[in-house]
Amino acid sequence: MKGYFPLVKRFSRVDDVVRWRLCLGCGVCTEACRNGAIELVNVTADGIRPRVDAAKCAKCGDCVKVCPGIEITHERVWDGTIPELRLSWGPVLELWEGHSTDPEVRFAGSSGGVVTALALFALSADVAGAVLHTGSNADVPLENIAVVSKCRADLLRNAGSRYSPAALCAGLGQIGDASGRFLLVGKPCDIAAFQKYGVFNRRLQERVGLVISIFCAGTPSTKGTLCILDRLGVSHDKVRQLRYRGYGWPGSTTVMTNDPGQGIRQLSYEESWGGILSKHIQFRCRLCPDSTGEMADVSCGDPWYRSPEQGESGSSLIVVRTPKGREFLHRAIAENYVEARRLEPGALPDSQKALLRRRRELFGRLVALRTMRLPAPCFTGFSLFANWRKLPIINRCRSVLGMARRIIQRGWYRPQSLFDVRADSSANPRTSAGRAG
Ligand SMILES: Cc1cc2nc3c(=O)[nH]c(=O)nc-3n(C[C@H](O)[C@H](O)[C@H](O)COP(=O)(O)OP(=O)(O)OC[C@H]3O[C@@H](n4cnc5c(N)ncnc54)[C@H](O)[C@@H]3O)c2cc1C
Ligand code: SF4
Ligand code: SF4
Repeated sequence: MKGYFPLVKRFSRVDDVVRWRLCLGCGVCTEACRNGAIELVNVTADGIRPRVDAAKCAKCGDCVKVCPGIEITHERVWDGTIPELRLSWGPVLELWEGHSTDPEVRFAGSSGGVVTALALFALSADVAGAVLHTGSNADVPLENIAVVSKCRADLLRNAGSRYSPAALCAGLGQIGDASGRFLLVGKPCDIAAFQKYGVFNRRLQERVGLVISIFCAGTPSTKGTLCILDRLGVSHDKVRQLRYRGYGWPGSTTVMTNDPGQGIRQLSYEESWGGILSKHIQFRCRLCPDSTGEMADVSCGDPWYRSPEQGESGSSLIVVRTPKGREFLHRAIAENYVEARRLEPGALPDSQKALLRRRRELFGRLVALRTMRLPAPCFTGFSLFANWRKLPIINRCRSVLGMARRIIQRGWYRPQSLFDVRADSSANPRTSAGRAG
C-alpha cells in the first residue's frame, strides 16, 4: 500500500529537503552523490545538513532517492510477532530486559550497555569484523563522528548516547573500502537511510552481519549542548570530554574541562535531557514514524516501566525484531555476554509513553502539513492512521490543530534559506560535525 502522504511537490535535490526542514541529518546523501557535490555542515541551531555545490551537481537526483527525510517504507514481516505490539511498535518477536555481563561495559553504557555487549559478541563470534557506529571526535569533543570499532577498547570508548547531531551514514565509505561483514548501530532513521542506500549498493547491504538500533525521541541541535555548557558555566573551548549520560543509570551529563579552575561539572539527566536538550530537537523528529528501530534486527532503549534503584548500574530494554536478531541475542546470552530476562509485552508501552504519544499524533501532524499545502514526508508500513484512531477524538483534533498553530507561529510555512544560520564547521564527508542536543 502506498504511503498516505505523497509529497506535495517532488524534490529534485537535497537542498529542497533542507529548505523544508525535512532533513534529519543522516548524511547518506553524501555517500549517494557520485560527483562529490555534497558536503555536510553542522548548523548550530538546526543539525547536520548537506550543502550542495551546484557547479558539481549533475542533477541526477540520486541524493533524494536515498533520503529518509522525505520517504520511508517499511516492508513488515509479521511471522511470530507479538500481536498486541504490532500496531504501535512494529514487529516484535521477543521483549527482554538485560545488561552487559562486563561491569565496565555496563557502567559505560547508556542504559545497561547491551548494545555494546552485543557488538562485542559480534566481533568475538565472527558475526562481524567491524562495527560502524557513533562516537565523540577526540580532537573536537563536542563533535560526533561515525567510527569503526574493531576491539573492546574502541567499543568501550564509544559506548553511551550522544544527544547531538551525528551523521552515521556519512561513515559508510569507511566500511565500503574494507572487506568482510560489519555490524551497524544507529538511530531508527540511520537504519532507514542505510536500507534505502542498500537498494543502490547491494554489495554493501549484503555485507551487514546485523543491524542494531537504539530508541530515539529526537536529535537535539548543537545549541542544546552549548546551553548545557552555559548552564554549567563551562567555556565552550575548554571542553576535553563530554558524556551525556551513562556511568550508572541513567547517569549524569558530565563535562571534563582542560581548565583546572573549571574541573569536572555535572548536570542530572532530568535537567540535561528534560530541561534543556529536549527543547532543541530538530523539526523533522516531530514527524518521526519510527522511534524504536522497527527496521533493525534488535533494538534497545530504557526500561522506564520501572524507576532506577539507588546506585543501579543500569539495564536495557531489548526488542528482538527478526529471527536473525533472536538467534544472535540467544547466543549472546548463552555465551554470557548479556544477562537478561523475558518481559511481558506491556513493558514496552509502559516504558515509552512519550514515543507512543508521538506515534499516535503523527497522522494528525501530517494532515496539518498537507492541508496547508506544505511538503510532507511519505511513510508506508507504519499504520499511522490506525494509530491516530486510537486517540480520543479531542486529541485527534489537537494533533492537527496544534501542529497547524505551531506552523503559523514559528513560520514553518516558509522555506528556510539554506544555511541562513551560522554554520559551526563543515564536516569531512567521511565523518560528521555535530554538537550535543
Ligand atoms: C538522540 C537520542 C535519543 C534517545 N531517545 C530515547 C528514548 O526516547 N527512549 C529510550 O528508551 N532510549 C532513548 N535513547 C537510547 C538510549 O539512550 C540508549 O542508547 C539505549 O537505551 C541503549 O543503551 P545501551 O546501554 O544498551 O547502549 P550502549 O552500550 O551505551 O551503546 C549505545 C550505542 O549507540 C550509539 N550512539 C550513541 N549516540 C548515537 C547517536 N546520536 N546516533 C547514533 N548512534 C548513537 C553508540 O555509538 C553506541 O554504539 C536515545 C538515544 C539518543 C542518542
Ligand atoms: S539524505 Fe539524510 S542528510 Fe541528506 S537530506 Fe536526506 S535526511 Fe538530510
Ligand atoms: S526522532 Fe526519528 S528522525 Fe529524529 S533523530 Fe530520532 S530516529 Fe531520527
